[in-house]
Amino acid sequence: MSDQTRFLLNESDLPKSWYNINADSPVAPAPVLRPDTLEPVTPDFLAVLFPMDLIMQEVSTERYIQIPEEVREIYKLYRPTPLIRARRLEKALGTTAHIYYKNEGVSPAGSHKPNTAIPQAFYNKIAGTKALTTETGAGQWGSALALAGNFFDIDVEVYMVKVSYTQKPYRRVFMESFSAQVFASPTDRTNYGRSILASDPNSPGSLGIAISEAVEVAATSGGKKKYSLGSVLNHVLMHQSVIGEEALKQMDMANEYPDVVIGCVGGGSNFAGIAYPFLRENLKNGRKTRLLAVEPTAAPSLTKGAYTFDYGDTAKMAPIVKMYTLGHGFVPPSIHAGGLRYHGMAPSLSAFYDTGLIEAKAVKQKATFEAALQFAKAEGIIPAPESAHAIRAAIDEALDAKAKGEKRVILFNLSGHGNFDMGAYEAYINGKLEDYEYPAEAVHAAMSELPKVSILA
Ligand SMILES: *Cc1c(COP(=O)(O)O)cnc(C)c1O
Repeated sequence: MSDQTRFLLNESDLPKSWYNINADSPVAPAPVLRPDTLEPVTPDFLAVLFPMDLIMQEVSTERYIQIPEEVREIYKLYRPTPLIRARRLEKALGTTAHIYYKNEGVSPAGSHKPNTAIPQAFYNKIAGTKALTTETGAGQWGSALALAGNFFDIDVEVYMVKVSYTQKPYRRVFMESFSAQVFASPTDRTNYGRSILASDPNSPGSLGIAISEAVEVAATSGGKKKYSLGSVLNHVLMHQSVIGEEALKQMDMANEYPDVVIGCVGGGSNFAGIAYPFLRENLKNGRKTRLLAVEPTAAPSLTKGAYTFDYGDTAKMAPIVKMYTLGHGFVPPSIHAGGLRYHGMAPSLSAFYDTGLIEAKAVKQKATFEAALQFAKAEGIIPAPESAHAIRAAIDEALDAKAKGEKRVILFNLSGHGNFDMGAYEAYINGKLEDYEYPAEAVHAAMSELPKVSILA
């Protein structure tokens, strides 16, 4: 064990390849289906939305995929990211556990999301794409793609969930500073947006609606614009593997190995990023690290959702995948301030949860913000509310270890900082946040809206 606090890698330690869990996965992937025909998608269907290099990565079973030098060069602006031993938090908790966190908040956009935005912009650039369309909820993904588009000289159009657009003006200005165009979704720019506004002019929007708008714009652009997604897809999760690959080296520098690896989950990308390289070590090298995905009780797709085929978006334009889902019509309660609002979960992560290779738990909102501030006061970083879900679980693990008198090595992913999330912290500090548990009956009711897939084998 080392007496250091920060574990820093050199530029030369930046991974040269991404790790593809599909090479080692013990579960066969379920087919991805077209939303219109319910038949398996073909590359030409996906080619309307994505460049071929990313489609090939999406279906690849190669274990390691080389990171292009152009991408590594931009990664070097902020990677390798630090691994930090949370000594002051340990002390504050009086725990026998050792707590480490990987700080992805040091990226220029403030989260892990540039890890995939940069390669996505790169592969689009070399494919001749002129503009990328995307959705953003809290604004982290739009910020990352705006940044990446700027580096590769690609226009970026962001459909931002209207309630966030209103509540987080500085996230919008961040994106506009990198020359992205930002629209409050639902907009009147798309058929789908107009249809939503016609039935509800005051719609607060949702991630599912914003995805539908961004997909519609790309799909009807005659090939000039492509669509970019910040989570859920295999290639996105794979790009995030740089987090876990670096963390493996850094835990080695610390002369420790984690008993449990923790990440928050929205669509699953930052969790997969830190956890899948450790899952590889479990599957291939006999390690027994527990992998714990943490979600809000307000959007509990893993712990309360159904494992089934569902649409990726509200308008049923994006592909259908087999995943844990709350139903594609899911609109998160407006009282929820913690992010992680997507209705589904990445297919690979869903399959691993279903087979017991990973664990999941849901945490309540107030306890999550309480953990966030406890962490901030000890370690000096105000975490993104999303990341605070992982912190809640890490603190609970540390307290459990303390109660049992165990030494437990805990590693969690600090997926981002919360410097743009002061509205949520203000609401918490002023006692305006409430706990909310998404009702099981609502999930049950949503199941009648699922696609009628017959190839359920
Ligand atoms: C987007 C985001 C998440 C949730 O997305 P995943 O794909 O599940 O990682 C978590 N943390 C931060 C800081 C984010 O910006």
